[in-house]
Amino acid sequence: MSTIGIDLGGSKVFAVRLVDGEVDTTERTVVGRSVTTVDAIVSAIEEISQGDESGVGIGLAGLVRPGDGMLVWGPHLSGTHLSIGSEVSDRLGMPVVVDNDANTALFAEMRLGVAVGYRNVLLVTLGTGIGGAIGIDGAIYRGGAFAGEFGHVRVEDGGLLCDCGKRGCWETRASGPALARLAREVVEANPDSSLARALDGVAVTGEAVVGAADEGDETARALVTEVGRSLGQGLADLAAIFDPDLIVVGGGLGSIGESIIGPARRVLADSLHGGNLRVPPTVQVAMLGQAAGAVGAALMAEGTIHG
Ligand SMILES: [Zn+2]
Repeated sequence: MSTIGIDLGGSKVFAVRLVDGEVDTTERTVVGRSVTTVDAIVSAIEEISQGDESGVGIGLAGLVRPGDGMLVWGPHLSGTHLSIGSEVSDRLGMPVVVDNDANTALFAEMRLGVAVGYRNVLLVTLGTGIGGAIGIDGAIYRGGAFAGEFGHVRVEDGGLLCDCGKRGCWETRASGPALARLAREVVEANPDSSLARALDGVAVTGEAVVGAADEGDETARALVTEVGRSLGQGLADLAAIFDPDLIVVGGGLGSIGESIIGPARRVLADSLHGGNLRVPPTVQVAMLGQAAGAVGAALMAEGTIHG
């Protein structure tokens, strides 16, 4: 039994082929925006296919209606109301399931990764923004369709403009771009600072700032701690609502680990309603890395078609 899983982001397609639980991963780069979403997906599938698959799962960054396989809107994908599921299914002649990529990533972590054995799990992906997914009693909770958009919970009146067009969203405070923005402000105000020297000649990304912090730059360390604390405050709000057993932190910045997650854990523990009378949820780094979304999509296809 084999299925293919696809995770389509703004600049990359991850494709995996799942054969009896064994995972074979490839990664390819989408060539600019001239490639339509469906063409990018179909060509990635054709590249990895061995011709014996029984179905395809697709994870997309954006608002997805799993019921009819519709991408309503994606911040990094062109077009709205795209019938991804039926178009890819028609092109390939096999069943296709479509879901939000954070949902597929959480599904993978629950089946094969760090969340195996937990009943109530939240996934928070920290990258360009904040993605989220909710696992309740071992299943993905979607609400009407779009539940889990944690990054766009407003944490600040006014506040910075978010990619979604609103102001003060959590992801403007706790994401790769948020950390990079704090670093740029320091560098512009203090061009002779050690942080300015550490970041000289490199692209100022959240990961670069964490790199400078891990190499001992005190200013970078303070900025990383600040973003980690914003992460922890949001996790405490999520814990107040869901009281999960486990919070999985993934994404490019989240996967870096303790330098971000350490401060977040401390704020989470300090902010919980009930204080030291309760045990805070466990916070762990995602295990399956960048392939999680595609692996989970392949597992969803397997469960839908053969389950
Ligand atoms: Zn937003």
